[in-house]
Amino acid sequence: MNDIFSKCATSEGYFGQFRAQGDRYYTMPVMESVPGKIMKFQGRDCLMWSINNYLGLAENEEVKQAALEAMKVWGTSGPMGSRMMSGNTVEHIKLEESLADFAQKESSILFNYGYLGVIGTVASLVGPDDVIVMDKLVHASIVDAAFGAVSDRRHVRVFRHNDMDSLESRLKSLRETVKGGILILTEGVYGMTGDVARLRDICEIKDRYGARLFVDDAHGVGVMGPTGRGTAEHFGVQDKVDLYFGTFAKAFASIGGFTAANRDAVEWIRYNARTQVFAKSLPMIYVKALQKTLDLVRDGDARRKQMFYIADKLASGLSELGYYIGKVDSPLVPVFIPEGNQVTAMEWISFLRDKGIFVTGVTYPVIPKNYIMFRMVPTASHTDEDVEKTVAAFRSLRDERGLTLHYDIDAIS
Ligand code: PMP
Repeated sequence: MNDIFSKCATSEGYFGQFRAQGDRYYTMPVMESVPGKIMKFQGRDCLMWSINNYLGLAENEEVKQAALEAMKVWGTSGPMGSRMMSGNTVEHIKLEESLADFAQKESSILFNYGYLGVIGTVASLVGPDDVIVMDKLVHASIVDAAFGAVSDRRHVRVFRHNDMDSLESRLKSLRETVKGGILILTEGVYGMTGDVARLRDICEIKDRYGARLFVDDAHGVGVMGPTGRGTAEHFGVQDKVDLYFGTFAKAFASIGGFTAANRDAVEWIRYNARTQVFAKSLPMIYVKALQKTLDLVRDGDARRKQMFYIADKLASGLSELGYYIGKVDSPLVPVFIPEGNQVTAMEWISFLRDKGIFVTGVTYPVIPKNYIMFRMVPTASHTDEDVEKTVAAFRSLRDERGLTLHYDIDAIS
């Protein structure tokens, strides 16, 4: 027999190679200020391009005020208990109604974290005979939800990223064999790469096969669509997406998440999602602050316009320097650099941070081998000057590090 702690002093494990470096610079950097477009890192003020504060609401004073007022009354703990026992309040119900209205669904349910919401929603709905079909690039929370929900790993099928032929062929082969139902899992905006799920096609296909669709719109809610209602609104398919999921961790700059769906589905989830049934309800500080945030998101056209303006300006400034910018419909700006690997990525990241530009890198397997990608998140708080300073830093990076910006466009687009 082995001691299960025997591995703990080693750097094996999921992020072992990063743990081995243990430097708190590239991984788990220690931030020294509150979130915003300028953040202190290692004593230096940096322009922040890697927090998902799309609408700039992390800095919002009205939200802070709403939270403070709730805190004065409810303290940090209230209400106490799970929603089922003693943690339910009129304010929770009101927020759920507002979110359902925002998502244009009959009903919605709150979760304490997006991660827990994805897991709770999927696990509550998927039974032993059901099968999950998911996009290859979905977020870890969706992968965990899928494998946690099924009793047999063969009940999770994966289709090639955003590839409708691949999705359809999975559904076709399942149609003959599946005893239960099929739940398709996708993101709305893929948070790492910034590309957008082909929701119109996915909805058309899933309707033809009688499957249901769960869309985790963590990066789309508040951001995409003519009125910020998300990626389903962007494609005009809100009524077709069966389960619309949003986290508050990004555009809402808070904590928690919600699933919106028809009334029966939400009631089922409310009584069966173990990650919420057996957890304390969302604290009132968040519930009250989120109600305010939702008003700002609904009223956020100017913020969304500024965010997309910054995204365009940053993308065109960098492509004029010769960098290849991924073509995406979301505001994310994926900046590709060839001859990238973990070593060069670290060197380039520290070059930029020394110039006061904070970025984080994405490597293979999320993007093709031999490239690194800086996943830059424009926000409504960034200004023209911020973009100009950032483009200047990328110019220095190109010139001082002698980057050869030659791309195999077919490989990365
Ligand atoms: N889904 C996606 C697509 C995400 O990017 C994340 C990460 N924030 C989550 C779910 C988990 O959300 P949360 O941080 O609110 O737990």
